[in-house]
Amino acid sequence: MKKRHTGFRKFLALALTLALVLPLTGPAVVMEAGAVTQAEIDALKSDASKLNDQKKDIQNQLKSVRADKSKALDQKELLEQQIDVIVNEISNLDAQISKYSELIGEKETELAENEADRQKQYELFCQRVRTMEEEGEVSYWSILFSSSDFSDLLDNFMMIEEIIEYDNGIMENLLALQRQIEEDKAALESAKAEQESAKAAQVAARQELKSQESEVDKLIGEISAQEDQLEKIEADLKKAADAANAEIKKKEQELASQIKNVPSESGFLWPLTNYNTLSSLFGNRIHPITGKPNNHTGIDIPAPKGTPILAAKSGVVSISTKNRSYGNYVVVSHSDGTSTLYAHMSARSVSEGQTVKQGQKLGAVGTTGSSTGNHLHFEIRVNGSRVDPASYFKDKTLYVTYKGQKVLLSH
Ligand SMILES: [Zn+2]
Repeated sequence: MKKRHTGFRKFLALALTLALVLPLTGPAVVMEAGAVTQAEIDALKSDASKLNDQKKDIQNQLKSVRADKSKALDQKELLEQQIDVIVNEISNLDAQISKYSELIGEKETELAENEADRQKQYELFCQRVRTMEEEGEVSYWSILFSSSDFSDLLDNFMMIEEIIEYDNGIMENLLALQRQIEEDKAALESAKAEQESAKAAQVAARQELKSQESEVDKLIGEISAQEDQLEKIEADLKKAADAANAEIKKKEQELASQIKNVPSESGFLWPLTNYNTLSSLFGNRIHPITGKPNNHTGIDIPAPKGTPILAAKSGVVSISTKNRSYGNYVVVSHSDGTSTLYAHMSARSVSEGQTVKQGQKLGAVGTTGSSTGNHLHFEIRVNGSRVDPASYFKDKTLYVTYKGQKVLLSH
């Protein structure tokens, strides 16, 4: 009896120690990781479905203009819109892929923590069982029967109840952890699968982009071969240049105090490093293909797609937008009353209201808008009137292609 009683006391001491070192941890402690990340992924997916709707809408418009040869320029415009949507799709998928990586990381951490927790709890549980075994006869019943009298029995009963509750708590906790671990594993697997499918969708989008771009290239060839389309290009550009006058004036008024604070250099920097052969001069000229005279609003400098276009002078970006004639274009307004316009960019890298330094990249050469090849269409305005840009580069050696021949441009 005495020995048993000692064993019982030891057992109680152990149980209480365990209760202290191993607080009951219910499923509330299990982290709800990834909820925010999942919400962000859902938002991206909803954006992606809107982009898909836009693409379908453009595809329908394309269907109706595709047959008509005289609408090659409209078709080019729609293809460019389509390309913009696909580029957005690709970056949306990029964001999804990186969010999935985040989610996978969170789930892996949660899983590792819960597995470690499970291991710890399981070890404590085993240790407890081992201790009970070492203590020999000690069991709930033997504790009860060890009571010296009825009031001792009641005391012991209350203690046992607590111990049983505590043991059940450990078991419940282990089971909850096990369930959570299984859920985490499933969520991890599905995040990995979703990420793989986003990667596959991105590969498909890149292929689609390539095919749309080659369709644009093919169209450019067709447009160049069609006189009426070329005339339409000239008319479009003239209209765009006239409309730009008003727009630039308006934006310059809005940004006046900002423009005033950016000192102008005395001269202009050539906007395309290493490309100094013009395909088209400013002003009255005979169109090389149509043979008809027209009024060119700037100079054309051919260069490969993606060539950086540099700010000719420090100033403030007064326009950075896209329209069907100039394509992607940027206007920089300078404090000396001049402004420079850069058109047909494949991509713009500045936004309206931004201050730029001379030589800073504004965008990249492309053939967006009314254009039949990769080139920079460059305009200079002095107090709102267009002037010949070439006249500001008298110190620079420039060439012009004329009837297929490259000749030195004499100012
Ligand atoms: Zn031009």
